[in-house]
Amino acid sequence: MSTAATPLPAETEALVIGAGFAGLYMLHRLRGLSIAAHGVEAGGDVGGTWYWNRYPGARCDVESMQYSYGFDPGLQQEWRWSERFASQGEILDYARHVAERLDLRRSITFNTRVAAARFDAASGRWHVDTEGGGRVAARFLILATGCLSRAKLPEIPGIGDFAGPIHHTGEWPHEAVDFTGRRVGVIGTGSSAIQAVPAIAEQATQVVVFQRTPNFSVPSRNAPMDPDYEAGWKRDYANRRAAARAMRTGVLLEVNPRSALEVDEATREAEYERRWQAGSTAFLAAFSDLLISQQANDTAADFVRRKIRELVRDPAVAEMLLPDNHPIGTKRLCVDTRYYETFNLPHVRLVDLRRTPIETVTATGIRTSAEEIALDDLVCATGFDAMTGTILAMEIEGPGGLRLRDIWAEGPRAYLGLMVAGFPNLFMITGPGSPSVLSNMIVSIEQHVDFIAGLLAEMGGRGAARVEATAEAQEGWVAHVNAIAAGTLYPRANSWYMGANVAGKPQVFMPYVGGVGRFRMKCDAIAQAGYTGFAMDGAQAAAAE
Ligand code: NAP
Repeated sequence: MSTAATPLPAETEALVIGAGFAGLYMLHRLRGLSIAAHGVEAGGDVGGTWYWNRYPGARCDVESMQYSYGFDPGLQQEWRWSERFASQGEILDYARHVAERLDLRRSITFNTRVAAARFDAASGRWHVDTEGGGRVAARFLILATGCLSRAKLPEIPGIGDFAGPIHHTGEWPHEAVDFTGRRVGVIGTGSSAIQAVPAIAEQATQVVVFQRTPNFSVPSRNAPMDPDYEAGWKRDYANRRAAARAMRTGVLLEVNPRSALEVDEATREAEYERRWQAGSTAFLAAFSDLLISQQANDTAADFVRRKIRELVRDPAVAEMLLPDNHPIGTKRLCVDTRYYETFNLPHVRLVDLRRTPIETVTATGIRTSAEEIALDDLVCATGFDAMTGTILAMEIEGPGGLRLRDIWAEGPRAYLGLMVAGFPNLFMITGPGSPSVLSNMIVSIEQHVDFIAGLLAEMGGRGAARVEATAEAQEGWVAHVNAIAAGTLYPRANSWYMGANVAGKPQVFMPYVGGVGRFRMKCDAIAQAGYTGFAMDGAQAAAAE
């Protein structure tokens, strides 16, 4: 593995920010188009989310055979996953392997965070400044910056006074953290905490979980990879990948087309039980209307609440763990390995912050309205400023001093989650308004990167140097995104999908709920019609639908 530092060039044709799965594949496609391309990455290596989220228990909730690139038949045949759901470490190894296989590292400058990007109309170039004072000019600027890449620490009084280590799950140290003999406080009960708590409890003397909102979680049933299962996938990869790309979630899974309300209670219960035993988020595909009908959703939510009561021995603790303020699935469904059972261990404790809120963090622990809890370590599993946080952390300025921060002040607006009107040659991969976080991210990444590559090839063919989403196309798309979201239960939850977890963030449902398959069809139709809604070189390439 070559780790020699690659300097930032003064100029390149395309600059890709981020070297996670989106950035790696984008660089590869750009090379294939013979477009000079360079990557810049804040981390010390490739891997993106899997580089940063190294907390104990971190693993993917999409099956390994599907959470991997599909563009390279040789790669998908040679790589071997050891478990049904891959751990963070193995996914990071995979990202490194891909970087080696495609010889990408020589085109990436690591340990470099972009601070600002300004479009210079005279040269038609983005001028990009890094935090370290580096500068690079590029015709195309591609944000492969990830949807969950800006960690959010809790705004709790006194947190700066804590004398022990504080670790955010999304910025976990690279050296091993040993909790042996330690009293550990975990703030948060989202996907990250639900994975981390059982793993931390295996080491720590005491674990105290501070819960503000109980979440729904289903078992993963993770297990060593079954060689027959792996072989079945590898024999039929092309067909199965094609089928996954047409699915709503970008994951090939069994979808029941029936309504939860059209079957009798015994049938419904049996279906939920079967899926609970099988594990994974495929639980939500038990019936077709779980994310559309509150009544249907209640049947699934009640099933999970009954399971929690069965799994947790102390009825008072079980009651505290019952989710009660959002329909199941409207916040990302968590997938766990023995999360609820962990609360049966004598050294694991749950503190319900709705009853006894945190008053302050002290040097030696946390004081709630009821007591002072002594702690050696604090783990903040408190989430991210999702989807827009990382993009808006950069000062992005289009022609005429147009600032993205101002344009998005009321919430993000983008055409296909890909381009923002007024910002030429600036692309986002899996940006707001695309299926992104509601889908198998790698499938969505490949689709967006392929679309961008197709658009750039089209520009090359036309001799165009500049492309931009039209305002009309963007507004039409935003209206479509909002209309479909409004027809679902999603907006009923105060989720990070809505921006609700960040004080002052506009509350807009950000991802596209129409599904990966439908989104792909729309993008393909747009491309086939000559890239409707994109203006090239100032001329309207084609009118939006
Ligand atoms: P999250 O879902 O946003 O959860 C953050 C948790 O911290 C919530 O329980 C939240 O409570 C709590 N919290 C935030 N501020 C707090 C405060 N001041 N005091 C007390 N509690 C506070 O974040 P996450 O768990 O990191 O997950 C984010 C997303 O990353 C997931 O939804 C998923 O998409 C992805 N992820 C995926 C996997 C996987 O593939 N298995 C694993 C981890 C993460 P409230 O709900 O009350 O705000």
